[in-house]
Amino acid sequence: MKKRVLAVTMAALMAASLTACGGASNVTTAAVSDTVAADKTEAADGTTGAEADKSSTEATGGKLVMATNAEFPPYEFHDGDKIVGIDVEIAQAIAGELGMELEIEDIAFDSIIPELVSGKADMGLAGITVTDERKQNVDFSDTYAAASQKIIVKEDSKLAGPDELAGVIVGVQLGTTGDIYVSDLEAEGTTVERYNKGFEAVQALSQGKIDAVVIDGEPAKTFVSQIEGLKILEESFTDEEYAIAVKKGNTELLDKINAALKTLRENGTLDEIVAKYITAE
Ligand code: GLN
Repeated sequence: MKKRVLAVTMAALMAASLTACGGASNVTTAAVSDTVAADKTEAADGTTGAEADKSSTEATGGKLVMATNAEFPPYEFHDGDKIVGIDVEIAQAIAGELGMELEIEDIAFDSIIPELVSGKADMGLAGITVTDERKQNVDFSDTYAAASQKIIVKEDSKLAGPDELAGVIVGVQLGTTGDIYVSDLEAEGTTVERYNKGFEAVQALSQGKIDAVVIDGEPAKTFVSQIEGLKILEESFTDEEYAIAVKKGNTELLDKINAALKTLRENGTLDEIVAKYITAE
């Protein structure tokens, strides 16, 4: 039932999807819980009982399953058959700090929180904005990035800022904060078009099907650099912060993640990772 975990490769992704309905929740429980000794021994895959016991106090061994949506450059995106990006490297560094092996589950953005709630994944990293509503369902780590929702329009658009979105057609990615906040404007006559991928919204804008796209600033920059004739409005629609989400009440894992984040912040790793993907302006 349990699969040998490969590093961040397609093989690991395929293994993840193959085990998603069966053993995944057991495996992940074993990876983070102090109490499931039998499962841990099995999940350790090749370690001895003694090594597995050690993992109960030091979190060595076992795998850490990250749920993400790899459509969000530069935080997570496909590079050939690999999934790369800032969140992926942060997750790898955290797994390294915890002595665990990272496994990535690439799923729809609006499935990430349900996946954490059901215990199929241990942590969600997907440029996830901290919101009070999400805090009802998951717990968030310390924040690791400042972000904002930006507005993309055609270069010749007359729309000049967030106050002008009432009554126009706005594209968003389904289930994102862009979706949530633009949906508040529906009462003012705004039409919201929801896409599965942010890039699809930007393509629709480029084709003249919609008037604007509201999306996080960094992917906005990436997409606008890939499609001609678009610009990002200067004024942000909202200011937000990204954090790592875990199942509500999993303080054991959350404390470990926060400790790892602190180490990675203090030793410069976080800055190095960000600098690899985002060039300072
Ligand atoms: N930051 C946004 C949110 O949390 C979008 C994240 C994403 O599309 N990956 O809703």
